[in-house]
Amino acid sequence: MSAKLIDGKAFADGLIKRVGVAVSKLNNRYNFKPGLAVVLVGENPASEVYVKNKILQTEKSGMVSIEHRLPETTSEKELLALVKSLNEDDKIDGILVQLPLPKHINENAVINSISPSKDVDGFSIPNVGLLSTSGEGLIPCTPLGCLLLLQDHLGDLTGKNAVIIGRSNIVGKPMAQLLIKANCTVTITHSKTKNLEGECKKADILVAAIGSPLFVKKEWVKNGAVVLDVGINRLPPEGDKKGRLVGDVDFENVIEIASAITPVPGGVGPMTIACLLRNTVTASCKRRNINEPEM
Ligand code: NDP
Repeated sequence: MSAKLIDGKAFADGLIKRVGVAVSKLNNRYNFKPGLAVVLVGENPASEVYVKNKILQTEKSGMVSIEHRLPETTSEKELLALVKSLNEDDKIDGILVQLPLPKHINENAVINSISPSKDVDGFSIPNVGLLSTSGEGLIPCTPLGCLLLLQDHLGDLTGKNAVIIGRSNIVGKPMAQLLIKANCTVTITHSKTKNLEGECKKADILVAAIGSPLFVKKEWVKNGAVVLDVGINRLPPEGDKKGRLVGDVDFENVIEIASAITPVPGGVGPMTIACLLRNTVTASCKRRNINEPEM
């Protein structure tokens, strides 16, 4: 058997188009365009690429995009002051502070200084709390993207055994909350899990968010499982060629046993940006107490 490819790029392109339609509806009906502020501190090359992409897609979808680039030497106090001014700016509906921040800045303090109603990454404590209770808050973009892909591919997820590798605050834990809400039976695994292979083998849905290239082997995957690969890893360069991007799953071999799988690149990655745009529209409507257009 060869797994079906779950085309995250195509799904994300469709979602970004629907976000664009929602933005023009809001502009026609209520005379505003949702605004997203992206804050980048320092010169991390990967962050530069993410931020450039986020800004490009925000502008493409017709939203207002504001960019703040701050030097590596920015103090925590200065960054907190910028976030405060963005919280108070009525034209801004979403605030994204690109992580990681330089070591001298306390990430948690910055994340939790963002007004929960503008926290489009969904990382602040009130949004984390809402996700694990009512589900009414803003939801972290990568796990939300994974859920949309799973529902698009499988429909109702009720009763599925879902296994997540990784327990980070930005992927593993919120992914678990979303899958519990979707009526899956969820297992979270991590670096201290005993018999990781045995746990993975029980999965109807396997989500890999580890940060270790080609880590998940064919032998760990149940026949017919659906595999979502969140990992983004660059292999070492070969000769004069830049090392290629791979996920956390040994894709070439796992496709022989899974029923469906996301590729890297072109799987989960594009969904993260699409969900960021969707969250910005959601935040803009909630803040104004108006109905959100369908997306
Ligand atoms: P973290 O480093 O925060 O978390 C990694 C998790 O993997 C931890 O919970 C860790 O366990 C677990 N882990 C590490 N080694 C093992 C092991 N040998 N066996 C089992 N579990 C292990 O990473 P993130 O969650 O932030 O990111 C994970 C990957 O996803 C990265 O490649 C990242 O680049 C990518 N990513 C992709 C995004 C996208 O848009 N597609 C967005 C965000 C991330 P423990 O807690 O015990 O240390």
